Amino acid sequence: MVEIGTSTHPSPHAMARYILVTKQSVLTHDSGFLFSIKDFHPTPEMRSVYIGQFEGEDVFVCHFSTAPKGYTEKGLRDVLYESDAYYFGLLSRAHQLATWDLDHQFCGRCGSTLTKKHEKEHAKLCNKCHIRHYPRISPCIIVSVRKENSILLARSFNMPSGRMSNIAGFVEAGETLEEAVHREVLEEVGIHIKNIQYRGSQPWSFPHQLMVGFFAEYDHGDITPAPEEIAEAGWYPIDALPTTPNETSISGQLILEHIELIKQMDSKA
Ligand SMILES: [Zn+2]
Repeated sequence: MVEIGTSTHPSPHAMARYILVTKQSVLTHDSGFLFSIKDFHPTPEMRSVYIGQFEGEDVFVCHFSTAPKGYTEKGLRDVLYESDAYYFGLLSRAHQLATWDLDHQFCGRCGSTLTKKHEKEHAKLCNKCHIRHYPRISPCIIVSVRKENSILLARSFNMPSGRMSNIAGFVEAGETLEEAVHREVLEEVGIHIKNIQYRGSQPWSFPHQLMVGFFAEYDHGDITPAPEEIAEAGWYPIDALPTTPNETSISGQLILEHIELIKQMDSKA
């Protein structure tokens, strides 16, 4: 787990470890992704951000516009799916902070170049209008809905055919998480749900979501997929499920946990 800490952020140094990234990739070499500064050649245009301590050592993420020689670019999604839970938080944080650093080079209020970083927090300070810019985190709800021995699964048009998942969506400004769960399920598949139960959360750096996971029970209504968003949706018995996300993602974890819960409820019935 990354220790975020409250002390002054150090500058890059020889004893630290480095994660190297490009826009959507993590750079690997011999299947590793944590490097010493001796392993690569820092370039003047390289951007670096301190991300905290991991295994007692300072870790930085360095952003390259193109991968240095000898490194392989690997999609962040693939790296996250292949990495165990031990590295998940570290890689998510590294990529999210690198993206924030890259996307916030100018003040959104007055347009000045942002050159000053807060010494203890991840924040950039505008020299001219004094506003602070923090990394953006976008909450999204994700919900697994049950109806007797089945769960609701849906596929949006941007997912490959045959792969089904939970309902998910961004929380709107001024909305509670619970309101977002009700709204997204109603908007995407046209049903009403009840008994929403919080199950856990997961950072999902594509580019800065915080996925907040729930279980819910079917209340009423017929499944009616949103025409421009949902390609297919249905109730799937837990013993006859299609391909679903693996348990690296909170989506896969919710489905597995929901199956266990339904089995337990079934055995007590
Ligand atoms: Zn400003």
